[in-house]
Amino acid sequence: MGIVLHLKKKEMACVEYSFHVPSLEELVVVLQKGLKGNFADVQVSVVDCPDLTKEPFTFPVKGICGKTRIAEVGGVPYLLPLVNKEKVYDLNKIAKEIKLPGAFILGAGAGPFQTLGFNAEFMPVIQIGSEHKPAMNGSYFAHINPADGGCLLEKYSEKYHDFGCALLANLFASEGQPGKVIEVKAKRRTGKLNFVTCMRQTLEKHYGDKPVGMGGTFVIEKGKAKTHIMPAEFSSCPLNSDEEVNKWLHFYEMRAPLVCLPVFVSKDPGFDLRLEHTHCFSHHGEGGHYHQDTTPDTVEYLGYFLPAEFLYRIDQPKETHLFGRD
Ligand SMILES: [Zn+2]
Repeated sequence: MGIVLHLKKKEMACVEYSFHVPSLEELVVVLQKGLKGNFADVQVSVVDCPDLTKEPFTFPVKGICGKTRIAEVGGVPYLLPLVNKEKVYDLNKIAKEIKLPGAFILGAGAGPFQTLGFNAEFMPVIQIGSEHKPAMNGSYFAHINPADGGCLLEKYSEKYHDFGCALLANLFASEGQPGKVIEVKAKRRTGKLNFVTCMRQTLEKHYGDKPVGMGGTFVIEKGKAKTHIMPAEFSSCPLNSDEEVNKWLHFYEMRAPLVCLPVFVSKDPGFDLRLEHTHCFSHHGEGGHYHQDTTPDTVEYLGYFLPAEFLYRIDQPKETHLFGRD
């Protein structure tokens, strides 16, 4: 597994790392066994990716296949203890850094405050423009309604036309092609772990020191989920612990159906990674950062995943800490 450092003057540092990539058939067996420890009803299989242009996904492309990559851009240390407003990014440039100029990108990050003028949760769903495909920004962002503290979920392209993001982002990129994917159905949670943590820890247990990265999309089809949204104003006093961060965040219970955009890595190969990060959106005005379902007896998850071939660590913070990563 080779590491290549690309760094030109005035450009962001970008490190490339090759993940361990198990076969889909092997992953089915591993995930089936692991999820059974946390859910009553589990069915994992290899299927043709459903057409993701259809409801509830409504993505700009049909699938998540082809040249799969995970990119982690920036990190929590650029948000906390205090915001670093120099940390703004352009997903067009990130697509070039990850050697996929026409990438289809999904994931979880901080909203482009440089465009929005305020802080927000960001749900990137982006087709980067290329010779073959027009650019299409299907992203959502969620912020707090100043009138009543409720959630405001908006479609990015209805007001803005750039491809920005900021501070931190966990991204799953592919060619957006149809093809074989891993389908995961899990119903009725019997354990303590959330859907993503359960899959991640299962991979960590099985693959040990061989990091496996995965991403894709899943739907919480039934039940409710605990989520958070960051305030529109960055904290003016330093936030130095999980407790302080949790007082700053606003927490919600959001209802199904929620379309989630998970990115997770079984084990950090030494790049100060956020090991899992999942944001969600809906077609009923709710969206945010996914923590856990709050209805274990009735919850139903349906997801489509692929392992990533490469990890790209972009603009890794030099000074770091471990809070604010839940
Ligand atoms: Zn988040």
